[in-house]
Amino acid sequence: MSEPSYRRVIVKLSGEALTGSQGFGIEQATVEQLANDLVKAASLGIELGVVVGGGNLFRGVEVSERGVPRPVGDTMGMLATVMNCLVLEAAIERAGCEARTLSALAMPAVCETYNRKRAMKNLGKGRVVLLAAGTGNPFFTTDTTAVLRAAELEAQAVLKATNVDGVYSADPRKDPKAKRYERISHQEAIEKHLKVMDSTAFALARENHMPIIVFSIGEKGAIEGVLRGKGRATIVG
Ligand code: UDP
Repeated sequence: MSEPSYRRVIVKLSGEALTGSQGFGIEQATVEQLANDLVKAASLGIELGVVVGGGNLFRGVEVSERGVPRPVGDTMGMLATVMNCLVLEAAIERAGCEARTLSALAMPAVCETYNRKRAMKNLGKGRVVLLAAGTGNPFFTTDTTAVLRAAELEAQAVLKATNVDGVYSADPRKDPKAKRYERISHQEAIEKHLKVMDSTAFALARENHMPIIVFSIGEKGAIEGVLRGKGRATIVG
């Protein structure tokens, strides 16, 4: 990868990134490592918005399989993202950088409500902005949220953290013949049904010419590394 120059980016962390070796819930040591990584990245002078998923706690589809209406399950999923954002916010502040959680679902006793101007203002002050509760609507994902927020907050890219070092034609942990892409278009990602993000997220990124940088969050300093143009990643777009 050549050295990119970003002013503002949206980092997408899935809920799974917070589970560490536990495989579920929230592992504090992992949260702290992520927070340190985000603070290092912010110290480069790049404004950071972070969309956090909730799959480590609840996913709407899975909850609805137990007989709960899907919109209720999705609300549980969105509330899970708020918990993840709050634990990350506290860890980022402890690591020495101001952070603010803005939630798409209003919960004034807990955190501020998301609106574009408020997010822009906080980003401009160098605070890490944690974008909680997804889009605030059921039937969406936090991947789509990341692209949506990147477009509306005029970010230059979405940094999508995964468990592998880029986009592959199949799951490289299951298929040894899986091909790794260095670069791929949004359209190809949709046509090839690549699982790294859902097709709504890819379609929104395509329409808004938003690059998605897919990288592995496994190692310390991974986010900073991507922002410096180091390490392996796939550019979608
Ligand atoms: N969700 C939703 N609307 C949104 C974003 C998320 O309803 O705009 C719900 C949905 O149920 C989803 C859950 O929140 O399954 C957790 O988000 P996601 O699955 O994207 O989390 P991740 O897989 O990244 O941890």
